[in-house]
Amino acid sequence: MGLELGFAEATPGWRLRSGHFPSKVGGRPAWLGEDGLPGPAALGCPRCRQPLAFLLQLYAPLPDPHHAFHRALFVFACRDPACFFRNQLPRKNAFYPYEPPPEEAPPPGAAAAVPSQLGSGVWLCRVCGCPGPKACARCHRAHYCSRHHQTLDWKMGHKQACPLPEDLDGAIPDHQFLFPEYEIVIEAEEPDSDGEGEEDGDVGGEAPEAALDALAKHESREDRIFQQFKAKTEREPEQILRYGRGVDPLWISGEGIPQEKDIPPCPCGARREFEFQVMPQLLNYLKADRLGTSLDWGVLAVYTCARSCSLATTHYIEEFIWKQDVAGSA
Ligand SMILES: [Zn+2]
Ligand SMILES: [Zn+2]
Ligand SMILES: [Zn+2]
Ligand SMILES: [Zn+2]
Repeated sequence: MGLELGFAEATPGWRLRSGHFPSKVGGRPAWLGEDGLPGPAALGCPRCRQPLAFLLQLYAPLPDPHHAFHRALFVFACRDPACFFRNQLPRKNAFYPYEPPPEEAPPPGAAAAVPSQLGSGVWLCRVCGCPGPKACARCHRAHYCSRHHQTLDWKMGHKQACPLPEDLDGAIPDHQFLFPEYEIVIEAEEPDSDGEGEEDGDVGGEAPEAALDALAKHESREDRIFQQFKAKTEREPEQILRYGRGVDPLWISGEGIPQEKDIPPCPCGARREFEFQVMPQLLNYLKADRLGTSLDWGVLAVYTCARSCSLATTHYIEEFIWKQDVAGSA
């Protein structure tokens, strides 16, 4: 299978709702299955305890096994600059109607509404769109994942809206918590025109001088990896994501490359394999500095169950993400 690239594109919000099986960056998660959602405990940062912010989701169905007919991968991040990423993410398989979703825009009014409750009865937090089991003690209508988000919403307008619960859903303020929303458009990567292995030829073909010391060797490996990263990304400089199940990730640096033992197996016992990576270009779209925070990464590599086991057919399960920093920035 060829490698596919993802690009961020502005798109009308209705195309990014659950029924359209979107791949997208930012905004609220467009949950796939409505049961077994990861709750506030799973989506709280293990270090600072703040709720994680939804970063992106990728619709990645598999032809086989049949329980992976619909399949989506969700990535969440801590917005606290001191915290960065959590090394996990939930995965979900679930069944949706057989017929593809309509391609026309829904009638005005229906489009803008952000769902506050799923058909399964699960309430969603008004701020982050993740499960919100806590309700406002006064109106009993506004739901939250945590005290953090209840306090935030109260300060940003729920204080005024609380006595008027009928227009609650139409009055969600910008809490400055969600990342800006984009569709992820996937395209096949053009094969190398100038021949693969060119880098190897350059480096391997040069007879190493006897005087070349270990440090220089290390530097040339480091340089080769970075040059390769640069060459691959320069051809499509806007790429935010590279998708290829089982292929080798494109590392940005020779440091912080995981070994096989660093990738924990799936709870089903199968090993996890690389599925996609998020590129640092995505940072340009996140306006992470809007909050004065500074999310940063070189490569985020996502590893999923190689068997795509059925554990995720009824619940969202956590997969594994590896964060590689740009050399010298860690
Ligand atoms: Zn945190
Ligand atoms: Zn929340
Ligand atoms: Zn209220
Ligand atoms: Zn598994």
